[in-house]
Amino acid sequence: MATKETVQYGAAEPRPGETKEGLLAEAAELRRQIRHHEYQYYVLDDPEVSDAEYDALTNRLRAIEALFPEEVPDDSPTRRPGGYVAPGFTQVRHQIPMLSLGNVYSAQEMRDFDRRIRASLPQDAAVEYVMEPKIDGLACSLIYEKGRLVLASTRGDGQVGENVTANVRTIRSIPKRLTVPAGEPVPDRLDVRGEVYMSREAFWKLNEERTEAGGTEFANPRNAAAGSLRQLDPAVTEKRDLGFFAYYLVGPAEPPTQAECLRTLEKYGFTTPEHWCVAKDADAILAFIAAHEQRRRTLAYDTDGAVAKLNAVWEQKLLGATGKDPRWAIAYKYPPEQARTKLEDIVIQVGRTGVLTPAAVLTPVKLSGSTVSRATLHNEDFIREKDIRIGDTVVINKAAEIIPEVLSVVKELRPADAQPFSMPAECPECGWPAVRKEGEAAYRCTNPHCPALGREGLIHFTSRDAMDIEGCGPALLNQLLAAGLVKTPADLYSLTKEQLIQLDRMGEKSADNLLQAIAKSRDAGLDKLLFALGIRHVGAKGGRILAERFGSMEALMAADKETLAACKDIGDVIAGSIVTWFANPANQELLRRLAEAGVKMVMERRQENEQHVFFHKTLVFTGTLPTLDRATAQAMARAAGANVTGSVSKKTDYVVAGEAAGSKLDKARALGVAVLDEERFLELLRSGAAGTAAPTPAPAGDAAAETSPAPGPRTDGGMDPLF
Ligand code: NAD
Repeated sequence: MATKETVQYGAAEPRPGETKEGLLAEAAELRRQIRHHEYQYYVLDDPEVSDAEYDALTNRLRAIEALFPEEVPDDSPTRRPGGYVAPGFTQVRHQIPMLSLGNVYSAQEMRDFDRRIRASLPQDAAVEYVMEPKIDGLACSLIYEKGRLVLASTRGDGQVGENVTANVRTIRSIPKRLTVPAGEPVPDRLDVRGEVYMSREAFWKLNEERTEAGGTEFANPRNAAAGSLRQLDPAVTEKRDLGFFAYYLVGPAEPPTQAECLRTLEKYGFTTPEHWCVAKDADAILAFIAAHEQRRRTLAYDTDGAVAKLNAVWEQKLLGATGKDPRWAIAYKYPPEQARTKLEDIVIQVGRTGVLTPAAVLTPVKLSGSTVSRATLHNEDFIREKDIRIGDTVVINKAAEIIPEVLSVVKELRPADAQPFSMPAECPECGWPAVRKEGEAAYRCTNPHCPALGREGLIHFTSRDAMDIEGCGPALLNQLLAAGLVKTPADLYSLTKEQLIQLDRMGEKSADNLLQAIAKSRDAGLDKLLFALGIRHVGAKGGRILAERFGSMEALMAADKETLAACKDIGDVIAGSIVTWFANPANQELLRRLAEAGVKMVMERRQENEQHVFFHKTLVFTGTLPTLDRATAQAMARAAGANVTGSVSKKTDYVVAGEAAGSKLDKARALGVAVLDEERFLELLRSGAAGTAAPTPAPAGDAAAETSPAPGPRTDGGMDPLF
């Protein structure tokens, strides 16, 4: 007796020997456990189990409930979205409920969903879907009255959420006022829904700061976003670098299709999911899911799936919703990147700042396409809180580009001889005492010349996001260190071919390639160099900000702490760390030698690009360009000194439009912003000379094909192009 629900959620058959009574008792116990985990997750932002484990509990519950639908209580966690209103927040009743999404996990289940939709709609209905990424954050409703943001709330239980208006006002990508094109009426009331999220970089930085301050880490960016938005003090939220993607516009102002909804949201100044498309059938749905699976690894934020939504709103309304999920949409969830394995040992790694990090040595296990045998354990508190012991079976997690980490211990499988762990009193590299300062979570080696510092610093210096010296990985660096050929990054630049070919497995060709890669890194750029130097708290983004702001190493060195701290996104802690780094004579000597070796210490575009037509100009890209992918085109524009933003306003200087450019192009025209096609964009990029910018017609195929007036000099001061 397979109901829709059992098909959708892949319910299990009753196992041999299971009785109705036994299954109902199991369901009651599952509901208790699920409620407990939901409280931990939604209210405390502190899950005790992984999402996969939580999902396994709910799927088992659904499977049992599908067998006995008449026994399902109305308040079952499968019948309502699992959120709560936490104490301290005022409640907001949603005029239109905020629903969750049903999940599928396989291509077959997705095809079943499509089949169900087609079977439920009139025969002549033109079924098509909008495919969007499923952003891993928390849903938020934003109410605008007469174009102004007046109320923001979380989903809560779907009917009643938490009032987070003051906090939402601190999120930069959420417009406080809608940008309504001239001549269009300002909507009386708009209910915009979307996802508040935290980028991975912001998440790492936040966790680093929390650890340094002796606090606990957030489990993942989603929990960090939820914990940051659901703060009683908006000043805390403000510091947390949250973003927002809008994906629904509900109520009377709702456009007739989901695609139109996304375009309308863009028009009003919202950031919508970066990649979406219209899919006409199950094959196209699956093609998007496959493409996004690749793409999601490269995004700056987590997406845990892809969402298929019926495009036509009238069809959506016809199908309606179950208590918890709309029937017209479904989320495909990517396989959880988690696995169970045995923790064989805990070893200590000494990092480039002298921090002793415990690492788990695991029985190798396959996880998201690779074999994992190590995972980070962060610090002593982490091990203690999770009660991790050598010999335990652990659940490990590997998010895109994130180092695998131990999520939890399977306590039921703990052997009697499992060994508790304590941090060593000495640095395993040099034997000097390791100390834990008050207020810090980390133990540090006290030896300023600990060999680990130099080695890890070199590994970082040559790494891809830093100076990107191909072929110069940890194994080679260890050889160079052992041979005494390199002590600091500056030594890399005086290596000779004769020295290199003495090394193991280093032929003439490899030596030439390596020397070439080292030579090339001289031009890596000030931003990369600043990151590569390993100044505490200066990450890749920090390097970019500082390079843009100061333009040269000399100018940066001359800046005092106040000047640094006044830079957007820098603040006191980073400023203090930069000043301390430059004050160290060993670092000054390193910079002197790097400069002597010809490593560029100025921001390229400061020197050469001030005359470029795109220098300090604001560009928006929209639609699909014929040959360039969006990220490449944007990077090219940035390299010429442009400021690339996501939405068109009167501050925009150029809109580069490709095929299927939507509302951004319309808005550019309405505002008289110059529109470039790819060919013209590349022409200007190459010619570079200021004053040569002439407007060009809109991309071929666009019936309007009108020209926009040439952009005059900006008189409004514009946005600070450096940030
Ligand atoms: P969900 O996250 O599976 O999906 C629904 C949500 O997706 C929506 O509410 C919305 O916030 C979001 N979303 C993201 N992109 C979207 C888009 N483009 N269009 C529409 N919606 C989009 O459901 P949920 O009810 O929010 O959370 C359930 C999930 O949370 C579980 O599957 C589990 O992974 C996790 N969870 C974990 C624990 C735990 O203890 N680890 C506890 C509770 C829930």
